[in-house]
Amino acid sequence: MKAILITGASSGIGYQTAALLAKQGNKVYGAGRRIEKIEPLQKLGVIPLSLDVTNDDSVANAVQHVIDESGRVDVLVNNAGYGSYGAIEDVSIEEAKRQYDVNVFGVARLTKAVLPYMRKQHSGRIVNVSSAGGRSTSIYGAWYHSSKYALESFSDALRMEVQPFGIDVAIIEPGAVKTNWGFIAADHLENSAQGGPYEKDATKMAKGLRKFYSSKKLSDPSIISKAIADAINKKRPKTR
Ligand code: NDP
Repeated sequence: MKAILITGASSGIGYQTAALLAKQGNKVYGAGRRIEKIEPLQKLGVIPLSLDVTNDDSVANAVQHVIDESGRVDVLVNNAGYGSYGAIEDVSIEEAKRQYDVNVFGVARLTKAVLPYMRKQHSGRIVNVSSAGGRSTSIYGAWYHSSKYALESFSDALRMEVQPFGIDVAIIEPGAVKTNWGFIAADHLENSAQGGPYEKDATKMAKGLRKFYSSKKLSDPSIISKAIADAINKKRPKTR
C-alpha cells in the first residue's frame, strides 16, 4: 500500500485517478481547493485534503498531514492545472503569472515539500500531468502551452537530479479529455477578448472549444487515470 498525494482531485482526471488508485489498495490523499467535491470519494477510502497549490502554507500543511498520518509519502501526482487561453495582447501579466503559479510553481512547491521525505526513504515517484500541448502549441494558447513546455523541462531536469536518491519522475501528456478543462479554457479565451481586436476570432474559437468538449466522442478521463496508475505501478529500469 502506497501513500499517494494527488492534486486537482476535485474534478476530471484527478478525481478519477484518486478513485482508481484507492481501488487498487493505496492510501490516497485527494487534494484540491473545492474539498466538498472530493468528499464523495471517501466511500472508496480517499482522504480529502484542502489544498491551494499557489499557497506556500497550504502546500506545507497538506504534505505535513500526509506525513503525520502515514509517516511517508511514496507518490506525488501533480495534476492540478488549467488553461488560461487568450491572445498575448489581451491576457494581463497578472493572469499570466496566475497561470504559471498553478501549472509550474504549484508543481514546484509540492515537489520541494515532498523531496526531503522521499530522499530519506530513498524511494518515491513523482508523476507530473503535462499535456500533448507541452510539446506543441496553438493560437491563443501562449501562456498555457508555455507553462506546460516549462513543466516538461522542469520534470526532465528533476528526474536527473533525484534519480541518485531512488526517486523517479514520470510525465503524462494527455490529448483532449472530457473534463471541465475545455470549458474553463473557453471562458478565459472569451473573457480576455471582450471588446478587443481579437474578439471575433477568439469568440469563434471559444464556441468551437465548448462544442468539442461537449462531444460524446471525446476520451474519458479514466484513460489517463490508467496511464497515471501504470506510471506509478510499473517497475522502472535501474539504469537508463
Ligand atoms: P479539470 O478542470 O476537470 O480539473 C482541474 C483540477 O485542477 C481541479 O481539480 C482543480 O481543483 C485543480 N486546480 C486548479 N487550480 C488549482 C489550485 N490553485 N490549487 C489546487 N488545485 C487547483 O481539468 P482536468 O482534469 O482535465 O485537468 C487535469 C490536468 O490535466 C491539468 O493539469 C490539465 O492541464 C491537464 N490536461 C487536461 C487535458 C484535457 O483535455 N482535459 C488535456 C491535457 C492536459 P480545485 O478547483 O478544487 O482547486
